[in-house]
Amino acid sequence: MNKYEERCTIGNIPFWDTFVVTDGKGKRKPSIRFWRWLSIIGFHFLFVLSYYADIQILEGIISGSRFFGFHLIDPFIAFQVFLAYHEIPTNLILGTSTIIIFYLFFGGRAYCSWICPYGLISEIGEKINRTLISKKIIKERNFNHKVKYLFWILFSSLTFASGYLVFETFNIVGIVSRAIIYGWSAALSFVIIVFLVEVFYSQRAWCRYVCPIGVTYSAIGWVSAEKIEWDDRCDHCGVCSNVCLVPHVLEIAKKNADTHGKSHVFIENGDCTLCGRCVEVCHHDCLNFKNKIGGLV
Ligand code: SF4
Ligand code: SF4
Ligand code: SF4
Repeated sequence: MNKYEERCTIGNIPFWDTFVVTDGKGKRKPSIRFWRWLSIIGFHFLFVLSYYADIQILEGIISGSRFFGFHLIDPFIAFQVFLAYHEIPTNLILGTSTIIIFYLFFGGRAYCSWICPYGLISEIGEKINRTLISKKIIKERNFNHKVKYLFWILFSSLTFASGYLVFETFNIVGIVSRAIIYGWSAALSFVIIVFLVEVFYSQRAWCRYVCPIGVTYSAIGWVSAEKIEWDDRCDHCGVCSNVCLVPHVLEIAKKNADTHGKSHVFIENGDCTLCGRCVEVCHHDCLNFKNKIGGLV
């Protein structure tokens, strides 16, 4: 895809073209999406390799694993354990702290775009959904994204009240990760249902309106160092919002948005998944990754 020659909305770009971009000098190179998908597939390749070859590089599943023996635990899952059992083992504290520190530096919801296996599946569903909408087979349906906070409270309350890890039954991230490593399970039926809802009813509905894991990483994202930075070369064409999973974070790119007189503004909203889609479609190059701590990343 070449953002300098056409407005690359999701609707007008063939799916496979999104894996290669043409830069300002006319050179073709792998896109950010290519590197994201490679990251997701690579992590699960390590899980599979560790399990079948018994080499103990990355063991477990994406929600709770050991990387060369170091525990890595999803913060929301750790919180659910605490709510259910009213205690949190030392390994869980260490594993969760490691994850939180990592994402404080690299961007909270980067987990969604760079690690989560359902994120990848959901992007495929999104493309099919957009195609069906463009052919007028289905209607576009969007809802208030803030409903996800209600689901976060609901799952947490049920866990606290029951002493049972209620969300684990519906945790499609864990279900998909487990299936990739250990094979088919009946729980995948639930993932298929969610996927079909996203394809035929509401695009990326689970990630946008339900997933408490995404909400928890979003909380880290608000204070994370890694951000997307916008600058005032923007002509408010709206293409970045068109491709964004969470377009409400790109209010700054709208005409008459209040920039407080600044020429460069960080997208502070923790819902940003740092997917880089907006970066890859902005024909003025006015959206870029920027790390607040020393610009190291
Ligand atoms: S919102 Fe949940 S399911 Fe969606 S990409 Fe993020 S962690 Fe994965
Ligand atoms: S940042 Fe501005 S110029 Fe760039 S894609 Fe978004 S609206 Fe268009
Ligand atoms: S603002 Fe950009 S990087 Fe963030 S979620 Fe939207 S498209 Fe992705």
